[in-house]
Amino acid sequence: MVYYWKCKIHNEVMMERLDKTKTKIIPYCSHCECKKELEEIISYLEKEYQRELKSNELKYQKECEEYQKELLQPRYKKELPFYLIGLIILGVGLLNVYFGLSYNGISQLWIGIVGSLFIIILSVGLYFSKPTEPIKTEIKKPQVPYITTIYDQKVDLFKSLQAEVDQYKAKLKRQYDNQTVSVYEMNEIDNMDGFEFEEYVARLLKNLGYVKTYVTKKSGDLGADVIAVDSKNVKVAIQCKRYGIKNYVGNNAIQQIHTAKDYYDCHKAIVITTSYFTKTAFQMAQKLGVELWNRKTLKEKISSIGKENWNNYLSKYYITPTLEKVDYIKIESV
Ligand SMILES: [Zn+2]
Repeated sequence: MVYYWKCKIHNEVMMERLDKTKTKIIPYCSHCECKKELEEIISYLEKEYQRELKSNELKYQKECEEYQKELLQPRYKKELPFYLIGLIILGVGLLNVYFGLSYNGISQLWIGIVGSLFIIILSVGLYFSKPTEPIKTEIKKPQVPYITTIYDQKVDLFKSLQAEVDQYKAKLKRQYDNQTVSVYEMNEIDNMDGFEFEEYVARLLKNLGYVKTYVTKKSGDLGADVIAVDSKNVKVAIQCKRYGIKNYVGNNAIQQIHTAKDYYDCHKAIVITTSYFTKTAFQMAQKLGVELWNRKTLKEKISSIGKENWNNYLSKYYITPTLEKVDYIKIESV
């Protein structure tokens, strides 16, 4: 069973990426991510647009003020020199007329007329001329990009982040597979004395699913060190042999537990050892229907309870989205 996260809004299984430390996996919706980015772009563009509008308005206001000032300004300041020129020409003309002078055949009268016309035209022109009115420039609304464009731009990034996660998961799987006995290391068990080992076996059987387990009295146990009852009420007599690896368990142990099985009204008998069994012990056990757990079996049994399931193991490497905050749902898929 694998757990996935699915975006409620987009109804799609979420993508994954690693966190900053590269040790945790974060699921996320790529579409929501693009939406968030689009919102950021829109907000930026809107801010820029407002800023431009404001600066344009200020510029226009300044131009208007200048225009108003220009309108009120007395115009003679600029045009005074022209008036003076006109007046001089007119004066010369009038003097010519008065004294009856002539220059190279140009009539005195004409010089007077030209001077007067110059002044008249200048006055009329000045009367009608006005400073140019400022025009407000238009600021266009910004173009907002399409969300699909953003997605297309980011899709390669999304994929590469996912590839990184897949690689990381493969590494975790290798780590998981290499995990060995974690509840009790074998050397710890090897350091126990016989009685400690019996206590340990009783606990181990409980962890393996037996409902009731207890250690029998030390003396007169007739070879049954532990009695265990499973959920189907099957009663088992167990003999524990905490032997050194080279010290094999022989026939005696098999015979003892076979007898003890009946004595304790058990349905089944097991001999558990930290060592191995002799060949004859093995053959006898087969005949009498006694189950044998040697060192290897014991390790496997311990591993089976010590090792958690892969998904539980993997889930510790996830930073899962908070359900209350975001529109995410958890879905299960085989
Ligand atoms: Zn989404």
